[in-house]
Parts: sequence; C-alpha cells; structure tokens
Amino acid sequence: MYFICFSNILKIFRIPVLICTVVLCSSWGFFAHRQINNHAVFSLPKGMIRFYKSNIDFVTAHAVDPDKRRYVDTMEAPRHFLDVDRYGINPFDHIPEKWKAAVAKYSENTLKKNGIVPWQIEKSYYALVKAFQARDSLRILRLSADIGHYIADAHVPLHTTENYNGQLTNQVGIHGLWESRLPELFADQYDYIVGKVKYIKDPLREAWKIIRHTFHYKDSVLMIEANLSKQFPADKKCSFSKRKGKLVRNYSRAYCRAYHAALNGMVERQMRASILAVASFWYSAWVDAGQPNLANFSSGVASDQERKHAEKEEQCYKKGRIIGREEEH
Ligand SMILES: [Zn+2]
Repeated sequence: MYFICFSNILKIFRIPVLICTVVLCSSWGFFAHRQINNHAVFSLPKGMIRFYKSNIDFVTAHAVDPDKRRYVDTMEAPRHFLDVDRYGINPFDHIPEKWKAAVAKYSENTLKKNGIVPWQIEKSYYALVKAFQARDSLRILRLSADIGHYIADAHVPLHTTENYNGQLTNQVGIHGLWESRLPELFADQYDYIVGKVKYIKDPLREAWKIIRHTFHYKDSVLMIEANLSKQFPADKKCSFSKRKGKLVRNYSRAYCRAYHAALNGMVERQMRASILAVASFWYSAWVDAGQPNLANFSSGVASDQERKHAEKEEQCYKKGRIIGREEEH
C-alpha cells in the first residue's frame, strides 16, 4: 500500500460547473453504504446476530473504508467496479469467471483497468473465512465491513459500465444522482426487511450472478434519465444546496423525485438485494469456518499500529484527492 497525500502537491483545478453534478467521492454514497451494512446485521441468524449487533456501529462506520482507501492506496480503485461492456457483445460469454483464467486471457493490467469487483468479493470472502477460523474479531469486523462495501458496489448498475458517469452520453453526474442523491432523499421510505440469509456455495459464482443481474439494469438507468432530461423543464432540473458549508449545484428535488419514480423501485430493489447478499456472504463465511462460537468473541480493539494506519488513511482522505477515476467509482 502506498500512502500519497496529494493535498500539498495538488491544487485541484476547478472547472466551472455548468451541469448538475453531485459532489461526492464514493460509491453508493457513504449514506447508502452505511445503511446496507447496518441493515445486513438484522438478517443474520442466531449464533451470529448478537456479535454483529454488539459491533453494529463498527460495521456501519467502516462500510465506507474501501472508498476512503481510494485516496491513499493506488491498488484500491479497480476493486469497486467492472466495466462489463468493455468485453464486447455478450460480454459474459467472454470473461472467464476465474481470476487465473481471466488473467491468462486478458492480462492483469487489462483486468485492473476494467475493474475487478467480482474477484475482490471472492478474495475478501476467503479472508473473512480465515478471520473466523482464527477467531480474530477485529479482522472479522474489518473484513465484514469491506466485503459489505464491495458487494454493495456490485449492485450499482453504473459500476458495471464504461459509461459510469454518463460521460459518453452527455449525462455527466448521473452516477452520483442514482447512487447517492436518490438514496439520501428516499431511502427512509424503503422496506429493509429483506428476509432470511441463504448459504452461498460458490462465492465467486454468486458474485458473477450479482454482476450479471446489475448489468442488465444499466441501459434503463441511462435511458430513463436521458428521456426525463428531455421532457423536464431545463430551469427546474437543478437547484443549489449546502454541502459541508459550501453551496453546490445539484439535481433538484423535483427532478430526483421524477427520476426515482420513473426507475420504478429500482434503487430500493438494489439496496434490498445488497443487504441480503451482504448478510448471506457473512453467514456463509461463518459456516465455511465451521461456525465458531461468537459468544465469547470480544469487540474489536484496534492495535496501536492499526490505529495509526487508520488515522493516516483518514487524514489523507480528508485532505486528499482520489487516485484513479474521479468520484465515479
Ligand atoms: Zn466503492
């Protein structure tokens, strides 16, 4: 991991904002990521729920760590997405599901350029199984928070396309609109009772299943906004709001409401699917580890080294600039 604080190096060139852009630097938005990890806890079965409930603040707060790492770790960015459409027509017929076979076919560089989220989910999963086996509660919680993030990202349609921020179709800003602005405005109306967890036999296959399903929403996400944008009065599309004490131009509430309605429950469906998938992955890792008794596991207490590391990440995140794609993944 490389720590690079850009704050002293870069004075970010600011381009006048002529379009509505949601000023965010996260995937699903920090709000939605926290909601997803938080609600996943309540889908866990007996034997797990007590431990996770007593650490719910941790898994909720750390749901956004992978996005914060994108400010300090050069390796982090590709873990959050997969540009499926870079692999041609019928892309899922071409991309080998297994990492080694995919590397052999496309090279590691190409895969990283196009995003690696399904393989990251697999990697985090087996690390979580090991953490359960080692009865390392802090690691269990960290990895649970991390995998929750990556699984949630895999449910965002704009994380599966090279047109991730509508930049190829004159829809710049749509990424933050879909995954941040809409959940922030409407998530309190969603139903978060998502049902019982299921055991996942093959985590990699399941990750691919999620990606395939997410990708099939991609055209609707873009087309519905494009159509709405044409019909909606141009002077009502944006409004100003305060964010971190600054006035920012953003999509207006009326525009968000119209887009949200036209999506016909898609954001809620994807949030609910994320919650259930996160809980199911946590549960399956615990099962694969032999269902260790979590009753006497302590809450996570960070070592000095880990605390320093986390503080450094936080500082770089606060001052820094994202490494890799700006704000969209
Ligand atoms: Zn992310």
